[in-house]
Amino acid sequence: MRQSKLFTKTKKEAPMDEVSKNAEFLIRAGFIHKEMAGVYSYLPLGLRVIKKIENIIREEMDAIGGIEMKTSILQNKEVWEKSNRWDDEAVEVWFKTKLKNGGEIGLSWTNEESHVNILKQYINSYKDLPIYPYDFKDMFRNEIRSKSGIMRGREFYWKALYSFSKDEQEHNLFYEKSKVAYQNIFKRVGIGHLTYLTFASGGSFSKYSHEFQTITAAGEDTIYLDENSGVAVNKEVYDDETIALLDLKKETLVEKKAIEVGNIFSLGTKYSAPFDLKYKDENGENKLVIMGSYGIGLGRLMGTVVEVLSDDKGIIWPETIAPFQVHLLSLGDDEEVLKEAENVYERLSKNNIEVLFDDRTSLSAGEKFAESDLIGIPYRAIISSRSVKEKGIELKKRTEEKGKIVSVDELLALLVSKPDRGLTSI
Ligand code: ATP
Ligand code: MG
Repeated sequence: MRQSKLFTKTKKEAPMDEVSKNAEFLIRAGFIHKEMAGVYSYLPLGLRVIKKIENIIREEMDAIGGIEMKTSILQNKEVWEKSNRWDDEAVEVWFKTKLKNGGEIGLSWTNEESHVNILKQYINSYKDLPIYPYDFKDMFRNEIRSKSGIMRGREFYWKALYSFSKDEQEHNLFYEKSKVAYQNIFKRVGIGHLTYLTFASGGSFSKYSHEFQTITAAGEDTIYLDENSGVAVNKEVYDDETIALLDLKKETLVEKKAIEVGNIFSLGTKYSAPFDLKYKDENGENKLVIMGSYGIGLGRLMGTVVEVLSDDKGIIWPETIAPFQVHLLSLGDDEEVLKEAENVYERLSKNNIEVLFDDRTSLSAGEKFAESDLIGIPYRAIISSRSVKEKGIELKKRTEEKGKIVSVDELLALLVSKPDRGLTSI
């Protein structure tokens, strides 16, 4: 993409009321637009990142048997009354509205009811189980506080998978697989080294749920981390019994601020019971389906990456979710430079390399570098009088101070060799 055609421009300042680093950088660099507190639009650069995160999650969910669908955002009051989650007293985050011809509807804030209500039509026999439907969806929550940028929105994009199993044993097998899939996701988006499986509060069917908590000062949660095993305990369930599960002494736990980027939850029959979601087993006996839920906030994940992987100049995207692989910059308005930059752009594009080409002639080198640092594309390729004289391109990683001259072939070889480029849907 030519930067001259990208309608978003970088800004020197973020909105005054924006206190979080992720929102500040993402707004200034033109990834998102703030509509109001807790509500953000994704601009072209931001959408590319979200789509790559989505692809990674989709691949990992499909690998453990997930089946994607898309449920509606407008929700039926009668369905939610079955599980006693329609009343504002029971659920304080509902956004609700009235139909013109009478009756109330709600905007999705979670998805158990929606999935169970659909699946009830299709689950009859033990032969129909287990199944693992999931969807990516915009969620709406009337959150009181929303000061963490895209990490806590009133409108946010998530993935939720629900598991429908015959019994606890079948459920547990999938639950363990989901932990590995989640760890793969966090590794692939570049925050695996800071993300820990964390014991958190459960429900009536299991004492604990599990959260995936990423260490960051911007986090809203406090966790106690055992650095040896890489397992943590959320403060909300921090007691002697829970600590004993980590197999260590108390003294070795370190208190950290962290953000919950995902969670997995054993639901037992909490939702299958009110919906009478049963299957006939091998002996013809009716049994309640055992469920689990597995959520990840995509916006929160993107915001977390910015929080933990930026420096004072801007964002540092991991290669797997960067909006583009390489930022090609032409410096000055020398004709030979511009011609060479056009050639390089064409060759990279022909080889399916995602290039953001700063083809503008009105900006100084310093301005271009500052913008490039803020946007944070992993590789920067500069075409200047100097590089033309040296018959190459000056290549520099976002994390490096100095570049080196390489040939176009060398640049191509480097970029094509990347296995995890998240390219499929863009
Ligand atoms: P939290 O404890 O942070 O309020 P939650 O436990 O209510 O989140 P879930 O309802 O289980 O979260 O949602 C699943 C995932 O969706 C969370 O792990 C998180 O990544 C994301 N998420 C939840 N609430 C928000 C929000 N307001 N904005 C952005 N992402 C969110
Ligand atoms: Mg939570």
